[in-house]
Amino acid sequence: MAGYDYDLFVIGGGSGGVRAARIAAGFGARTGIAESSRFGGTCVIRGCVPKKLLVYASRFADEFGDAAGFGWRVPPATFDWTALISAKDQEIARLEGIYEANLLKAGVTLHRTRAELVGPQTLRLVDEGRTVTAERILVATGCRPQRMPDLPGSELAITSDDIFHLPRLPERIVVVGGGYIAVEFACLLHGLGSRTTLVYRGDEILRGFDDDLRRALRTAMQQRGIEVVLQCLPRGISRGADALWVELSDGRRLAADQVLLAVGRTPSTAGLGLESAGVELGRDGSVRVDACSRSSTPGIFAVGDVTNRVNLTPAAIREGQAFAESEFGGRPTAVDHALVPTGVFTTPELGTVGLTEAQARERHGQVLIYKSEFRPLKATLSGSRERVLMKLVVDGATDRVLGAHMLGADAGETAQLLAIALRLGVTKADLDATLAVHPTAAEEWVTMKGPMA
Ligand code: FAD
Repeated sequence: MAGYDYDLFVIGGGSGGVRAARIAAGFGARTGIAESSRFGGTCVIRGCVPKKLLVYASRFADEFGDAAGFGWRVPPATFDWTALISAKDQEIARLEGIYEANLLKAGVTLHRTRAELVGPQTLRLVDEGRTVTAERILVATGCRPQRMPDLPGSELAITSDDIFHLPRLPERIVVVGGGYIAVEFACLLHGLGSRTTLVYRGDEILRGFDDDLRRALRTAMQQRGIEVVLQCLPRGISRGADALWVELSDGRRLAADQVLLAVGRTPSTAGLGLESAGVELGRDGSVRVDACSRSSTPGIFAVGDVTNRVNLTPAAIREGQAFAESEFGGRPTAVDHALVPTGVFTTPELGTVGLTEAQARERHGQVLIYKSEFRPLKATLSGSRERVLMKLVVDGATDRVLGAHMLGADAGETAQLLAIALRLGVTKADLDATLAVHPTAAEEWVTMKGPMA
């Protein structure tokens, strides 16, 4: 493809962009990639991975507490935020290095710069002060946290990007938001020792998840000592002598050392020059694409969060892979966004795949619900108040399992395995015919009696 500097130029070195670049280069495409921050993107640098490391850290408090019931005498534990952040930083730097090395090994040319489009096949590499041309361009610029610009004092608040580099663990934190990022940070900060208040405008946390699990998680969070304030908005943030003050719409004032805004993420398309190339954007600024990640402009594609389809790492990776296979591997591949399993790494953890009860009732005539709620074996000796909730949503007409939802330890791991079964069309009768692993919590999936409704 002479005449162009590259066969493919990828803007953004996160989950989707890196996968697409590596696979395309593997097919022999001359590939360049620009990253304005750090290779690895949100997931590796300021998302899934560092968050999960902090989640692990936060759960030791429970383990120390539980140990006494099993005969252990643990001296009072102390926690060192600086040590945790420094260990986390080392691991993230190692992963970043692996991402870069894998790109180089695949033959991709790395550009450490912001890139912008100046036409359908021309890009400006801002920090290199030059332009390059490419036959195909892939936009994989992800999303960035929203900041509530209309909230007076919002500049005093932090976002999830900042939390990983705070100089100290806040003694008191107000988390604004009710999505998965907000509840995960509320739980992990509480576990590490912050006095935590979650403020959310909706009437229940985790919109879009199964209602029983939403309620059960919120109750568990409250029992663990997190204050959850629903149907309430922050009206302003101001700095006092020794605290930030958050004014709430219910008239209350909360003192905090940090205020974390986790109120959504905006596709990173501002200033990217997409309009100059005629690329159609959605109202939220996302790049509009078809099932094969093609934008409205021939030769320009987009994958990952910037398309605002399913904003999760595995979806971005799968979309990047499918794009490269379609365009350079001669295997047109559309990504199936149905049955996306997901974990919410709160404590207790939530794992889910398939339809919620409400979604199933909208789409199917007869829906059967099987539920099991119990105290896990470990809690009998530890004395923990923790409970496990498992729920199956079954199509009454076909016996097919439409959704499986769990709140409890390792629910994310469980959701991954259940996703395979659901993809294969598992029925309730198949689950009933499966032998249990005893004693586990997971055996409830194959021993549930019912239905409840
Ligand atoms: P990104 O990974 O965001 O990569 C985009 C990259 O493009 C960035 O590195 C950015 O610097 C770069 N960039 C932007 N503009 C330009 C430009 N003009 N020029 C050059 N480079 C540019 N997902 C899960 O599946 N599980 C989780 O547990 C999970 N936890 C999360 C926790 C948090 C706190 C956050 C914020 C997200 C989490 N996610 C999780 C979501 C996940 O991180 C994203 O879905 C995923 O990273 C999307 O990948 P992407 O390639 O689309 O974008």
